[in-house]
Amino acid sequence: MLQADPIRYSIILPIYNEEAVIPVLMLRLEQLLASLDAPAEVIFVNDGSTDTSAIFLAGMCKLRPNHRLINFSRNFGHQIAITAGLDAAQGEAIIVMDADLQDPPELVLEMIARWKEGYEIIHARRISREGETWFKRASANLFYLGLSRLAKVEIPRNVGDFRLIDRKVLEAFRAMPERDRFVRGMFAWLGFRTTYVDFHRAARVAGETKYPFVKMVRLALTGIIGFSDVPLRLAIWAGIGVSGLAFMYGLYAIAEWFTTKGIASGWSSTVVIISFLCGMNMLMTGIVGLYIGRIYNEVKRRPLYIVDRKVGFDAANSDQTRHVA
Ligand code: UDP
Ligand code: MG
Repeated sequence: MLQADPIRYSIILPIYNEEAVIPVLMLRLEQLLASLDAPAEVIFVNDGSTDTSAIFLAGMCKLRPNHRLINFSRNFGHQIAITAGLDAAQGEAIIVMDADLQDPPELVLEMIARWKEGYEIIHARRISREGETWFKRASANLFYLGLSRLAKVEIPRNVGDFRLIDRKVLEAFRAMPERDRFVRGMFAWLGFRTTYVDFHRAARVAGETKYPFVKMVRLALTGIIGFSDVPLRLAIWAGIGVSGLAFMYGLYAIAEWFTTKGIASGWSSTVVIISFLCGMNMLMTGIVGLYIGRIYNEVKRRPLYIVDRKVGFDAANSDQTRHVA
């Protein structure tokens, strides 16, 4: 019997309530797979969808070779879904992309060309964004500007989670055990030979964004806290600044005591100082608390995700249920 060629490309797609886009997605993926020069696998990670996505995908994965599904037991979040896909990938070049076709599958061919030139991380960079509100665009710009000032590693701007990585990078990534994951920052931290391919980001083909404001803020905080300790150091500088001001005010009060008689006034300045200091204290405790919260999360050492069911992973293409990752 002829040995089948080993899988060279892994395509990872996180899915959260994407039933509206799956039919178009399958079509575009099929076109992409047909134009690849070596066998590829497609790994769908169903991140606890509450619609029919999982049923659709499980059926699809049973019918098609090298299509696999990892079904989470609940919604663990986009970044964790990507991680699960990366954990399962077998290819030499691994591609992560959104399922809503905002990341055009055709761009993968260009990424593969760069990979063959010897690059190990190829980020897709958005040179325009369509179908996103001005608020999303403005907040994203502000976030990337802030992050580039704060973070110790250069995290590329206008780059989301659409990228190709070499097997070597994947092995290094798998050695990063952190719980609070900001995947694009982690790849920046890893280093390796990196390049970019530019693209115009289209609007979602169907459905609506799964990143409401609260999730966006959470991701932004994870990025900042995971890659910068500037907020913690802020506490020291603010402390020094406030103490300096308080000291100067003390000098002023002593001078007043020498020059004026009978100082009964001073109530307002006392109140101002006390409330200011209390406010500073709370703010700083809060910042420290954020980091401690993350440490707590790390020391619990819970698994990153729980897999409820896997489809298409072994040769017999059979279901494996209740596998805990
Ligand atoms: N997604 C996910 N889990 C979530 C939220 C989103 O797996 O909790 C997936 C979603 O199905 C999509 C990708 O992550 O494939 C990006 O989400 P979306 O397109 O809603 O984000 P946006 O493009 O609006 O930033
Ligand atoms: Mg999208």
